[in-house]
Amino acid sequence: ADVAELDARITVCRACPRLVDWRESVAISGRRASFADQPYWGRPASGFGPAGAPVLIVGLAPAAQGANRTGRMFTGDRSGDWLYAALHRGGYANQPTSDHAGDGLELQGLRIVSAVRCAPPQNKPTTQERATCAPWLHRELELAAPTLRSILALGLIGWDATLRTVKQMGWEVPRPRPRFGHGAQAQLVTPDSRVVRLVGSYHVSQQNTFTGKLTEAMLDEVIATL
Ligand code: SF4
Repeated sequence: ADVAELDARITVCRACPRLVDWRESVAISGRRASFADQPYWGRPASGFGPAGAPVLIVGLAPAAQGANRTGRMFTGDRSGDWLYAALHRGGYANQPTSDHAGDGLELQGLRIVSAVRCAPPQNKPTTQERATCAPWLHRELELAAPTLRSILALGLIGWDATLRTVKQMGWEVPRPRPRFGHGAQAQLVTPDSRVVRLVGSYHVSQQNTFTGKLTEAMLDEVIATL
């Protein structure tokens, strides 16, 4: 299967009962008043960005009123505003804003996926949900591997999911196991001896951007290393 087929298969996944329930209940009755007249996606979010891109971003999960509403990764919420503005500054996006799925945004040389593809309550997937969704990331990485240069993990969950998945795929991971941190880096080696760099960044969630834990300059710095 290619990336387009993978995307199509992900959007109809119903493997996690709690998340299916949550994503659909937000779409039906949990709409924020300002979006009440808009259609809600209410399904898993597939990857966004071109197949074969040398850079892959691995986020946490769609936000209930963000990608779960618009159907596109990091689209329609403050986290996305932050991320796409930075990707535009870094030359990976054709525009700095990401409002809805038909807004003309295009990525170049970069694709965005997440460790969990459905919005979880309180942005907290369970361990079992993370494990259930892992095969989708596995497939993404298999398809991306031949042209992959670096992976940017946004937050600890993206970092852990990436390391776990590439280990299963037989990639070499440094020992001791690389620890997550903002600006942390690790060299991963594919079975055909290609080096792929894993880079960590604090997540672009409002919890980090509002408090100044993650600044624009900090995000630009890690994006410049990809
Ligand atoms: Fe499927 Fe992943 Fe959504 Fe679970 S979180 S229902 S595995 S797409």
